[in-house]
Parts: sequence; structure tokens; C-alpha cells
Amino acid sequence: MTDNTEHPRFHTGSHANSHGGHRRISIFGSTGSIGCNTLDVMAHLGGRDAFQVCAVSGRSNIDLLARQARECGAEIAITADEARYTQLKEALSGTGIEVAAGEAALIEAAGRDTEWVMAGIVGMAGLAPTLAAARRGADIALANKECLVSAGTLFQREIERAGGRLLPVDSEHNAIHQVFDRHQRDSVERIILTASGGPFRSFSSEEMARVTPAMAADHPNWSMGLKISIDSASMFNKALEMIEAMHLFDLRPQQIEVIIHPQSVIHSMVGYHDGSVLAQLGTPDMRTAIGYCLAYPQRPCLPVERLDFARLAQLDFEKPDETRFPPLRLARQAMEKGGLLGAILNGAKEIALEAFIEEKIGFLEMADIVETVMERLGAGVPAIDIQAVYEADAAARMLARELVGD
Ligand code: NDP
Ligand code: MG
Repeated sequence: MTDNTEHPRFHTGSHANSHGGHRRISIFGSTGSIGCNTLDVMAHLGGRDAFQVCAVSGRSNIDLLARQARECGAEIAITADEARYTQLKEALSGTGIEVAAGEAALIEAAGRDTEWVMAGIVGMAGLAPTLAAARRGADIALANKECLVSAGTLFQREIERAGGRLLPVDSEHNAIHQVFDRHQRDSVERIILTASGGPFRSFSSEEMARVTPAMAADHPNWSMGLKISIDSASMFNKALEMIEAMHLFDLRPQQIEVIIHPQSVIHSMVGYHDGSVLAQLGTPDMRTAIGYCLAYPQRPCLPVERLDFARLAQLDFEKPDETRFPPLRLARQAMEKGGLLGAILNGAKEIALEAFIEEKIGFLEMADIVETVMERLGAGVPAIDIQAVYEADAAARMLARELVGD
């Protein structure tokens, strides 16, 4: 397991990559958990001998962003926060690395020619830069699940039109991608997303009502960013992943199952109509999924801990409880009604999550707020274009803010 306090070293490697030269790539959200793991994998796969980095980006962690830009020799470093431009500029003065700030700068950098892009920004803020990269035909390693949850088929259409590949980084979707037989897609009956169940798997509703942000941020198996850790505890993360999976693998809502698997060893499964179930297993380390996307269709050699089945001894499973974890039920509604309901669910969830982090609302109120917003705004509005997605997101945020009392 790695976390983002352990910064990867991006030394010049000694071996060129299998493509026989430099691959030009960009990493959006490089200062986050996914971003740090991406740089770590790149360092193991040849560092500057193998990769030419165009853009790295962050928001508030300027010291880390500047260090990453220097270490990987990036062409440009961008902070999403315009107020931090001067700080970044000073931190990179004399290096020749371009510095920029704000959303427009992120979009511009995402439009610069690269073969591969890591979409590792958290939340809806990741949609615009990822779309800019998708529209010019780059291969997209998608960690930012909000792109598919909010913009669904519209997002995929842009990728298909430009001809890039969409490679899922989310461990469950990456697992499915590894065992989903695209040549026999009619034989796929179902996919089974595994969920650790998070830290409150066996809590009663009364105990959950008293959960604090610090308790929710402490995930038992995975080391991740703050927001996704809390989303994992509330199961909003799994809700987003159900919608993400439906779009990614072009499935019907009924074909998507969720099973609680506390050890997080089976990352997800595909069930075929001959009764076979294929699974991908591994230790919970995001570098496996990131490396898979970086080297696809080859398999890179990665320094992740190997599974020791004798030590593991047993794997457990249990049915998820939709009463204690209503986000799963809300995801089903969003999948079945379709349209802009995914964008509405996500927009409301982002506001409710911020309000919980700021201790303005309780843990269980997050789902109440999202459900109310979905009921009031989600009457089957079709997703005509990306503009409609942004409008639905804005309306959901506004109503959710009212409900949290902002
Ligand atoms: P982190 O919070 O660790 O990192 C988020 C990154 O986005 C950081 O670089 C952060 O900058 C940047 N950022 C934050 N706010 C904005 C904004 N408004 N505009 C632009 N950039 C911003 O998140 P994770 O790395 O954990 O997650 C990233 C994405 O990947 C999420 O969508 C998450 O759901 C998904 N994901 C993550 C997994 C994981 O293991 N972490 C697993 C599966 C999916 P800074 O830190 O400098 O402020
Ligand atoms: Mg996941």
C-alpha cells in the first residue's frame, strides 16, 4: 500500500520503455493519491528515460507540485487555484518550467499533444480537462469517476469520436476490464462489483449517525484521498462506481451487482452465461491498476506486494444493506431513470460531502440531502449535451446548499 505522504522519486531510469522511446504523457491531479502513485509507477518503468511529461497539476499542495514538476522535467505545472499562481511561479523560478493557474489553464494544458493522460483530479472539476484531452484523441486513464457518472454516454461519445482509448483506473472497473471478454460481450450476464464495506460495515444506523469526518476518513484497506475515503465509508463511492460501470461496459442496471468483500482482494468479477465467473485479484494497491493502464495492452513488472493465499486463508462475502447504506438504492434509481440523474446525484453529493467534512451535517444526512435533490430535480430530464450536464450539476449544487443551510 502507498499513500501520498510518501513521495515518489522520479530518477532517470536505466531502461527505455517497450515502445523504444519516450512516451509523452500528462498527469492531472498529480499531487493527489492517484497522481503520486502514477509518478511512482512511472519511476519504476523507466522514469525520464521512458516518459516525457507534458503537464502536472494540483490545487493547494504547491510545494509538492513544484517538486514533482522538477523531478519529472514537466513542460508545464498548473494549479487549479488562481490565488496560488505567484507561489507556484516562485517555487519554479529559474527552472524554465511554464507555470499557469485556473480552470482555463488546465483545459489548455489538457489540449496539448500527448499520447496518454491520467485523469486524477477529484470531483466534477475533472470533467472539463478530461474532455479536452479526450477530444484530441489521447488515451485516457480514468481515475476521475465523476466524468462517467455525470456525463455518461456523452463523455464516451467524445472519446469514441476522437479515437482514443478509455482505460479505467478505478480498481473495480480496472479488474472488470481485465476479465471482460469484449469479443463475446453477449455472453456477459452480470458484473459483480466488490466493496470493502468501509469502516462502518457492521455499525448500526444509530452508531452511524454519530460518525465524525475523522472516523469516516480512515479506510480499513485502501489509502486514498480524503473525499473518496469518506465516500467509501458512506457507500457513495460504490454508488458512483455502479453508474460508472454501467456506462463503461454498456450494461443494463440489472446486470450490475454489488457484494461486500471485506478483505478487498477480489477487485471485481464478470459472470458469463455458462455460469463461469472470472475475477481479478491482488493486494489493495492502486499501482497495479495504474500500471495496467500505463502499459496497456502489455503487463508491466510492478513492485507491489504479492498475494499470499496461505496467509490470507479466507475470503468473506456478504450482501450489502441498502437500508443502512441508501446510496446504493439511489444509484439504482439514477441508473434506471438515466438522463441527468447521475449528474444530479453527484453534484448534490459533492455539496453534502463538503458540508459533512465541515461538520455542518451528520454522516447519514448526506444521503438524505442527495435523495431530496434527486426527487425534486430528477424528473427524467434527458442529457442532450455537456452544457445540460453542467446546468444539472449547478442546479443540484444550489439546492443541496439550501438544504445544508448555506
Ligand atoms: P486526492 O484528493 O488525493 O487528489 C485530488 C487531486 O485533484 C489533487 O491533485 C488535488 O490537488 C486536485 N484537485 C482538488 N480539487 C481540485 C479542483 N477543484 N480542480 C482541479 N484539481 C483539484 O484524490 P484521489 O487521488 O484519491 O482521487 C482522484 C480521483 O480518482 C477521484 O475522482 C477519485 O474518486 C478517483 N479514485 C481514486 C482512488 C484512490 O485510490 N485514491 C481509487 C479510485 C478512484 P491538491 O491536492 O494539490 O489540492
Ligand atoms: Mg473503486
